[in-house]
Amino acid sequence: DSADYDEAVNSVCPFCGVGCQVSLKVKDGRIKYVEGINGPANEGRLCVKGRFGYDYIHHPHRLTRPMIRRADAPPKGLNVDPGDLSTHFREASWEEALDFAAGGMTRLAQAHGGRAVAGFGSAKCTNEEAYLFQRLIREGFGHNNVDHCTRLCHASSVFALIENVGSGGVTATFNEIENADVAIVIGANPVENHPVAATYFKQFTKRGGKLIVMDPRGVGLRRFASHMLQFRPGADVAMLNAIMNVIVTEGLYDQQYIDAYTENWEAEKAHLADFTPEAMAPVCGIDAQVLRDVARTFAGAKSAMIFWGMGVSQHIHGTDNSRCLISLALMCGHIGRPGTGLHPLRGQNNVQGASDAGLIPMFLPDYQSVTDDGVRRAFTDVWGSGDFSNEKGLTVTEIVDDIHAGHTKAMYILGENPAMSDPDVDHAREAFAKLEHLVVQDIFLTETANYADVLLPASTLYEKTGTVSNTNRQVQMVRPAVSPPGQAREDWWIEVELARRLGLNWTFTHPGEIYTEMAQNMRSLDNITWQRLETQAVTYPSLSPEDPGQAVVFGDGFPRPEGRARFTPAKVIAPDEAPDDDYPMIMTTGRQLEHWHTGSMTRRASVLDAVEPEANASLHPATLRRLGVAPGDMITLQTRRGSIDIMARADRAIATDMVFVPFAYVEAAANTLTNPAIDPYGKIPEFKFAACNVRKS
Ligand code: SF4
Repeated sequence: DSADYDEAVNSVCPFCGVGCQVSLKVKDGRIKYVEGINGPANEGRLCVKGRFGYDYIHHPHRLTRPMIRRADAPPKGLNVDPGDLSTHFREASWEEALDFAAGGMTRLAQAHGGRAVAGFGSAKCTNEEAYLFQRLIREGFGHNNVDHCTRLCHASSVFALIENVGSGGVTATFNEIENADVAIVIGANPVENHPVAATYFKQFTKRGGKLIVMDPRGVGLRRFASHMLQFRPGADVAMLNAIMNVIVTEGLYDQQYIDAYTENWEAEKAHLADFTPEAMAPVCGIDAQVLRDVARTFAGAKSAMIFWGMGVSQHIHGTDNSRCLISLALMCGHIGRPGTGLHPLRGQNNVQGASDAGLIPMFLPDYQSVTDDGVRRAFTDVWGSGDFSNEKGLTVTEIVDDIHAGHTKAMYILGENPAMSDPDVDHAREAFAKLEHLVVQDIFLTETANYADVLLPASTLYEKTGTVSNTNRQVQMVRPAVSPPGQAREDWWIEVELARRLGLNWTFTHPGEIYTEMAQNMRSLDNITWQRLETQAVTYPSLSPEDPGQAVVFGDGFPRPEGRARFTPAKVIAPDEAPDDDYPMIMTTGRQLEHWHTGSMTRRASVLDAVEPEANASLHPATLRRLGVAPGDMITLQTRRGSIDIMARADRAIATDMVFVPFAYVEAAANTLTNPAIDPYGKIPEFKFAACNVRKS
């Protein structure tokens, strides 16, 4: 009923990587409700987060004024009341706060070199804001110590994709499942984490598609699965190599495709010889006959897709897990045709776009290497600046260690909350307390902002203009439905003002100008102008100004030498720490339907918080009985890093030796417990496996 609202504004949901388009109904300067509209990824559908998770933007805890830490503030720690910042911070004008923020970074860079200043940007921001952030660190401080949450997400998947197919994006949109007859979903729980994508997976099974679900947890899609492989945590490589062994020994591979489009097949084939299903069954916990059946089903499909999530990527062998999935698709020729492809489901609204925009320490925009002199020159020519370091920078987790080592002394953190999301958060919080100068730009006083020297109040996605890129490579425009509260400003404006105070000659007055500069050195955005995006979403690559974009890529070779994808054999590597007498269980972490990431937004969304108000851990009912715990009792979880008290829930889908903990709850922060050991290639921590002790509190 149009009488319900004054204005309807089209934008994109700020949460998961599906990128659902929304219509925001605005009345009296506030969003009253949200409806799904016909975007390419959602066709009108929304999940509970997109539909009800919006009123955090009107929450009284919003940062509405720039603030500077008081000279007489108590020592830095997790000790600021988000409802009353005055005990630690004083209000400041934008002029004073920006001068203070830039002045502190400049002072430390002059005293210790530019490397003393590092940056974390955010996948919650637009492409333009991500692009500006990496430019600010590179141009302003001359190095590449700039990263964002992809490091905690799909960094290992992207490493394997770039290594073996030449590009880090998905090879097919998730909507392509409607053209598939078989699909594997491994290490992902789309029913909770990508709910609208999950609706397409369910529809696929309704019309007869075979869904093979592989996960140590019995995730929600199992009800729709033709095969459910609840394998042992950390045994992904053993299981996948066994499936590929069957495809080799039974001659089910596509020799014609392998000859035409791949390299290193003979090495892969030889490597797989030892991984018989019978040998791997006790390792992965899946019966050899089931492994054979899955191999025949996948290889025998006319067209098949593979989807994966953090359950694959967040291991010290995360890159090897992805290498196996890539090899599996390649040997069957299931890439480059309708209904085939590789799709790591992106977790965050714009983690694809922020990565594309160069917000990573080893790559400039479009994954162009910082070690390439010609690439750096192409950017500095556009920027009108001098050269910057040709060394790959430090990642999120390495920067925390670098603070402890005394090299990084100042940070600019925009929209990230590493004091909640870093593995071993106590270690990270100690680091942030040590910083001599911390600039935090955010919408709330996050746990990280507790350690700030200056707070710059920023905007939500529903208060700004810009573009975002979803898991499908679809570039979409977001538009402001309401104004930022108080003196809060759009993030790109704050970045420009800071850059000017760092002495950079930035003249941007609108996100469209930033996009146009960005597109100059990003071939992925060819034919995708700002003007086009004002009226339509476009999938990259787009081959002409009229082409809506390519849903499926690599139909005729890969962006690698000689156009060939590569098989990279993967060995079985044990998780970093094994359960023992002191820590006999396995803890794994993740998200749940109602809450998103560190909870700073969804726990301030009234409906979502009402539906899921309390920190909880899930265990099998038999495990609870063994521990003498009833559902609803408090339990203590302890690992080698620390302990938390949390409410126990019964869940038959959890293996009896496992406990699942969502990481959204500050009062029982899962990352107090997680293992910071990292994958050597993607540098991603092993969030999905920690040896753990569980007892009644
Ligand atoms: Fe938002 Fe993801 Fe839900 Fe879509 S599926 S409404 S993008 S959280």
